[in-house]
Amino acid sequence: MFADSHCHLDYSSYRAFLESHNEKYPEDYYASAKIIERAEQANVDKFVTIGTHLSDVEQITKLTEKFPNVFRTIGIYPDYAKEHLQKFSQNELREKFKKVCSHPKTVAIGEIGLDYHITTEEISEQKQIFRLQLGFAEEFGLPVSIHTREAWQDTLDILDEFPKIRAVIHCFSGEADFTERLLQTNYYIGVGGTITFKKNTELQKSVKRIPLNRLLLETDAPFLAPVPYRGKINEPAFMIETAKKIAILKGVSLDELDFQTTQNFFNLFSKAM
Ligand SMILES: [Zn+2]
Repeated sequence: MFADSHCHLDYSSYRAFLESHNEKYPEDYYASAKIIERAEQANVDKFVTIGTHLSDVEQITKLTEKFPNVFRTIGIYPDYAKEHLQKFSQNELREKFKKVCSHPKTVAIGEIGLDYHITTEEISEQKQIFRLQLGFAEEFGLPVSIHTREAWQDTLDILDEFPKIRAVIHCFSGEADFTERLLQTNYYIGVGGTITFKKNTELQKSVKRIPLNRLLLETDAPFLAPVPYRGKINEPAFMIETAKKIAILKGVSLDELDFQTTQNFFNLFSKAM
């Protein structure tokens, strides 16, 4: 049974996505219980649902309490850096993280990092909140799930300041020089549906070079659905398409890929054991 190392199962993520789609679904089609049921039928039975904002915490806690195989992270996404810095002092943020991190189902801090794609004007706030959360991760003994977009050099430079940190680089984009540098670290590398896109040959080439014991599977659901569902609302049940593609690229069986990536999942998210 496969493990989805990065998804957004909370209803607000799905609601936002549903609103931007014209497709019609039965009312409870994207209820968490239904999403999880379809995933289990597709051999995906462990999930890390990701936080991006402190206002997520309550909803995500409910999810993890309801489903034994759903784990969660807490984190402030780069887009929300300024907002959180204006609203809370560093000490208040530390207290909030401390409380959530002590919860048995909180397996990591994330997704955190840098994103220069949408906004470039708040880079200093992004870096500040990123460093702050990396410090919390070290202090509270949790790994981190990293979001980096058009900012991998700065992201890895900041990670270097925290030599004890354990991390997964989520939604790996696959640039050759980025891959080269990642191979010199011991971070896990999360690969999602974009690997199935026909034109994404750079990522496919890079994944061939990454050892199996460094790979994690993910969906980033409801975003980035793999082929043949591209453009649709993603869900963990679709992860098998990503797994099939990676198994071909690595020249291993699906069983072997499952075994190794599940082991990687528990190595990184040790509280999920
Ligand atoms: Zn995500």
